[in-house]
Amino acid sequence: MNFNDLFVSVNKIKGVGPVISKKLSEKGIDNKIDLFLNLPTGAIDRSFCPKLDHLEIGKISTIFVKPVKYYFPRFRNLPNKVVCKDEFGSIDIIFFNSRENYIKQVLPLNDEVVISGKVGFYKNKFQITNPDYIQSIDKEKDITKIMAKYSSIGGISPKTIQKIYKEEINIIKNLPEWHREDFLKKINWPTWYEAIYNLHNPCNVHDVDKNSKFYERLAFDEIFSNFLIFSEIKKRIKKLRKKPKIIPNDILSEIKKHIPFSLTNSQTKVIDEILTDMSSDKKMLRVLQGDVGSGKTIVSIIAAFAAYKSSYQIAFLCPTELLAKQHFLLFSKILKNLNCKIQLLTSKIKSSEQTVVRENLSKNNIDIIIGTHSLFQEKTLFKNLGLIIIDEQHKFGVQQRINLSLKGTTNTDVLLMTATPIPRTLILTSYGDMDISTIKEKPFSNTNISTLAKSAEKIDEVITFVNKRLLDHDQIYWVTPLIEESEKLNLSAAVKRFDFLKKNLDVEIGLIHGSMKTEEKDKIMDSFISGKIKIIVSTTVIEVGIDNQNANTMIIENCERFGLSQLHQLRGRVGRGKKDAYCLLLYSKNIGENGKKRIQILKSSLDGFYISEEDLKLRGFGDIIGYKQSGEKDFLIADPIYHSHLFEIAKNEIDQSQQVFGNDIENQYANLLKIFKKDKILNIIDTG
Ligand code: ADP
Ligand code: MG
Repeated sequence: MNFNDLFVSVNKIKGVGPVISKKLSEKGIDNKIDLFLNLPTGAIDRSFCPKLDHLEIGKISTIFVKPVKYYFPRFRNLPNKVVCKDEFGSIDIIFFNSRENYIKQVLPLNDEVVISGKVGFYKNKFQITNPDYIQSIDKEKDITKIMAKYSSIGGISPKTIQKIYKEEINIIKNLPEWHREDFLKKINWPTWYEAIYNLHNPCNVHDVDKNSKFYERLAFDEIFSNFLIFSEIKKRIKKLRKKPKIIPNDILSEIKKHIPFSLTNSQTKVIDEILTDMSSDKKMLRVLQGDVGSGKTIVSIIAAFAAYKSSYQIAFLCPTELLAKQHFLLFSKILKNLNCKIQLLTSKIKSSEQTVVRENLSKNNIDIIIGTHSLFQEKTLFKNLGLIIIDEQHKFGVQQRINLSLKGTTNTDVLLMTATPIPRTLILTSYGDMDISTIKEKPFSNTNISTLAKSAEKIDEVITFVNKRLLDHDQIYWVTPLIEESEKLNLSAAVKRFDFLKKNLDVEIGLIHGSMKTEEKDKIMDSFISGKIKIIVSTTVIEVGIDNQNANTMIIENCERFGLSQLHQLRGRVGRGKKDAYCLLLYSKNIGENGKKRIQILKSSLDGFYISEEDLKLRGFGDIIGYKQSGEKDFLIADPIYHSHLFEIAKNEIDQSQQVFGNDIENQYANLLKIFKKDKILNIIDTG
């Protein structure tokens, strides 16, 4: 067997023509290895072989019967039917879209056959419709009793898939082992081949479970390859040397004069960590994590100012236009009298103006550029890029992060910021290459928020509550339900609530939604901040960045539709002043168990770190750190919910093999890295 055969295109497989290979490709299955790693989602058990007086509706059954009578109706849209019997009863076998000749051939009258399929019940008779298998009795063994089941690959029958696996699986039979013999022996795992083989040809329905030893072996290999690649990246990056930034000693005292508050201890500490990195000769790759409202922006402004002082350009990347604009205004305000030239660059800006901005950038006429993705288009060129800052970095994928950091040179430091604390398990993996700074304390203690929950049906009580808050001179955010995939429905929910509140309350109310023009939004926000508008009804657009210390009540409708971290971030909009604050969660009748648990967690804690770990447990990873949002996943097979214990094992095993193989470690696991397509990442770094 040749290892490279694994990377041969699926259209080279016997029986896979252009149609099937196109469908496979849509599923991300391009070559044979992708096929093997497309694991079953479960298994079908055909080992239930009842006599005909013991049939159970809905159960997949394998029965031994004799066909006794055909019904081939003349009307086209009626199915063909074959009555079959054993000594205890009878059953109808129903065929849609099968020709008479075929039926007569597979079910000859009075010959015993084996039929397998799901048993149904229609007009008082048991039946199997379009059976999965029909075999003559001598070929009974050909019926796979336990069959792996796959998420649907458009129109390809399970049997075809099964056949492909059976025929192709031999090419991995003699794959050399990459793990240390001692290790495998101790942990008692199957070989890679055995794992793949048994997952696709299970002997037992539990062989395909996420905690079977076959599944674990593969999940482990994936996690291991992930660790390995990041530890290799880290080694390479550690070797890079950059020109240290010369940062004046009095930088803090200079900029502090322009900041309207004094920094928290946490902020001072992380600023120190960042400036130390920047002035060292090693490239900085640092994640700044801190709960919503912990004051990360000011930290990034100081970092940017330091880079500016040492004569570098700074790029600040935001996931949304709104955020980019807001940051632009804040940067401009604080750095206004410090000679720093700041520009905004987003796709909303006229393309002729964009061209001018880009030209100025390339000539070093701009010091700080703030913008969205358009910053990193190929045509954006920097003269002297010394620092990249990425806000809300979890909205971007791993590959994007790597691409972005390659935009600069060795001299470019990178600072990532996130309000979604990174769960421990993941710090070990995708963030293995990063140093982490954490802002622990918030400028506002936020401990004055009471979190309440109420059924949405009690809207009268909610109105009473709102009136009380208004009497107390409070202002209110009212967030309407999030309906994924439909901005239109989001809007209509918001408008409906807006009309309802206007009818029932005697104060000025504003409405904000995603499809509004920025100027309109800004105008309403300004009236809200100045206190003219008392209640803002809004879709989740207020999630990021809006800051009004006089608004201390947050009402969130259909809270079950939101993720925990998102609810926590919304809640963080209030309680920034000294006054008491309230977050009222409205839930609907059909709130599930998970929804109730989420409310419980929110009520019990104001700690974003705790909440995000709980979120991970409830929702599964992917959602929480925003891989869904970025459309990129770190793992194909491993699932931190089931496999958290493997992370620790993988980490130890990396350390062990580091000692055994030393500099040869990459060679030792070259095949593994290739299988999980990690080898290319190293290539980028080596050439970049
Ligand atoms: P996040 O970490 O969520 O990005 P921001 O940087 O937007 O938080 O800060 C939230 C609010 O806290 C802003 O209004 C900001 O001006 C304010 N803030 C930040 N640091 C301090 C501080 N040390 N003292 C008082 N207010 C602060
Ligand atoms: Mg922020």
